[in-house]
Amino acid sequence: SIQPDGDAAIRQTDSDAALARFSAVQKQYFTDPFIKHLLGRGSQFQPPRPPLINVGTYVRSEAIDALVDQWLDLSHAEGKKCQIVSLGAGSDTRFWRIANTPRKDLLASYVEIDFPEITTKKAMSIRKNKDLSLLLGRPEDVKLAHGGTALHAPAYHLIPLDLRLPPGQALGNALNSDAGAGLLSPNLPTLLLFECVLVYMRPAESEALIQWFVDYFSAGDDGAVLGAIVYEMFGLNDPFGKVMLNNLRARNVDLPGAESYPTFDSLLQRFLRHGFDASHALTLREIRRTYISHQELERISQLEMLDEIEELELVLQHYAITWGVKLYERNGQSLKAN
Ligand code: SAM
Repeated sequence: SIQPDGDAAIRQTDSDAALARFSAVQKQYFTDPFIKHLLGRGSQFQPPRPPLINVGTYVRSEAIDALVDQWLDLSHAEGKKCQIVSLGAGSDTRFWRIANTPRKDLLASYVEIDFPEITTKKAMSIRKNKDLSLLLGRPEDVKLAHGGTALHAPAYHLIPLDLRLPPGQALGNALNSDAGAGLLSPNLPTLLLFECVLVYMRPAESEALIQWFVDYFSAGDDGAVLGAIVYEMFGLNDPFGKVMLNNLRARNVDLPGAESYPTFDSLLQRFLRHGFDASHALTLREIRRTYISHQELERISQLEMLDEIEELELVLQHYAITWGVKLYERNGQSLKAN
């Protein structure tokens, strides 16, 4: 079959992610009333993904949801609303899933960034669908911008940008452009989400991106807090990892970030090298084993047959969620005390 090349192949991974999510929803691993509105044409008729993929999608989704909820609740406990920035957001539905719950009041602003081709499609889906658009606010407060590649609502912003560009100009301009003027306050607790996106960038590019945010919040005058969550493959130098990597490369997707984190311990460096005060990581294997309740494991084991637990664990062992927190003092210095 003919496969897209280069950036088109990278963008194609968004359809794969959306399909995987839709598949897990159809198989009742979890609910997501919004994903069906963001699928590409005809995608709802695709066969469900294999059980192993569904379980992986489920574990990843539950774990990141739990971290994001904790972040919102912690900020709330501090008496602050918070901001979330999703880099390479694709067709992610997280904003709507939060907006559909009481936690919506804890969100000052939710920013999604992706290639213009992807944001244009998403903006159109939002405009076309009431389930999506009504959660953004009154129709007159939801505005397309930049030729339909961007969309702005009171607490939601969809922004087209190639994240590999030097962030000093590109990201800075995008977040401070006319329509989106100052849409990220340096004073509010802010959570960065990198879900399956850094692997498509060179290490120097993803480091520049993270460092840009680190610097941006050092300008805050109010003791800002920066959090970040990365979901990515790692440890791809071992025999099984090499097989995974070759499978992906066979689809023409360039993965310049794939070998940056050869071991579990190296994952923590993602944030520590940028002066984060704390950094943690868990593999999906560990999360499934330790953090998903027995009742839930029992429930999902009934959804469909999965007899290759060993293979499942080998795959899940190559995916990790890494998260970190950086606290700023009033003078912009990091609190290194603990
Ligand atoms: N984060 C979403 C999720 O987990 O469902 C989508 C993940 S999808 C595998 C990767 C996304 O990152 C795609 O939407 C792709 O277009 C985006 N992406 C990759 N490289 C990018 C770049 N340089 N600039 C902007 N977006 C990028």
